[in-house]
Amino acid sequence: EKEDRSPVTIADLASQAVITLELLKSFPSDSIVGEESTDPLKGNEGLKHKVLKLVESQLSVNEEPMVLAALDYGAREVDHSKRFWTVDPIDGTKGFLRREQYAVALALIEQGKVVLGVLGCPNYPFSDSGTDKEKGCIFYAVKGMGASVSQIEGIDDHHISVDRTTNASESRFCESVESGHVSHDTHDKISSVLGITKPPFRIDSQCKYAAVAKGDASIYLRLSKNDEYREKIWDHAAGLIIVKEAGGQVTDFSGNELDFSVGRKLHNNVGVLATNSILHNEVLNAIAQVIK
Ligand code: AMP
Ligand code: MG
Repeated sequence: EKEDRSPVTIADLASQAVITLELLKSFPSDSIVGEESTDPLKGNEGLKHKVLKLVESQLSVNEEPMVLAALDYGAREVDHSKRFWTVDPIDGTKGFLRREQYAVALALIEQGKVVLGVLGCPNYPFSDSGTDKEKGCIFYAVKGMGASVSQIEGIDDHHISVDRTTNASESRFCESVESGHVSHDTHDKISSVLGITKPPFRIDSQCKYAAVAKGDASIYLRLSKNDEYREKIWDHAAGLIIVKEAGGQVTDFSGNELDFSVGRKLHNNVGVLATNSILHNEVLNAIAQVIK
């Protein structure tokens, strides 16, 4: 458990170290904002050993100082108005622990705007039949070049786009599994105003953005249960550009763009709404009716 009582696993820490070491090989002078740091390893030799072993199994690197420095690289002060990467090494750790959905999220931000995003979703079905063999997707998007999905194990790779649902009442919306993260109640009220009858698609992590981007849902609603909570940039950057490049729209609950230039959190935004674009204004109107 971290200080904020959220869970952290060997995989979260090793994943961030691996991504950082690999990214710095290609972009040695770039900044990275990462969710994790070496804090959970302090005074816990057993955990440290397991993380180092896992990194070694992936990269054949076994120099402790180098791996620990890589892990702390993402906790440094960064000029958020310039170019930087942001990484969530395991987004949806609670889903990962339940062996359900989670995502490895990486995005590149320039002057407050996301210009590239990648979501590795090892448990997300690649095809609708969704057998185990077909499980595992990498979603990716570059600004101006569309969004794509490729099989994690396989060669299929193709463009994706949001669905064409024009009638909100026929749409499906997605939301977090964790009732401690978001207000299912408020989402329910918004969906009632829209006349939605389908049950919510509850799925952990930025897989919700992937679901909207490939047309498995038309709407993603996210309002924290806690008024004071501000969303973390690494929980949204990759997903946002994948939805936008797939033809969708992403704003906060007031219809403003998400502002990635103000630090590790989205201090200027409350609520997150991603849609297939067509329904965006209608959902914003429903939100305004519910949240007065
Ligand atoms: P999800 O599975 O969509 O709920 O997303 C997981 C993310 O929720 C984690 O990466 C956390 O950063 C974030 N999270 C944790 N606590 C809260 C909270 N109280 N409100 C909103 N998001 C949270
Ligand atoms: Mg996360």
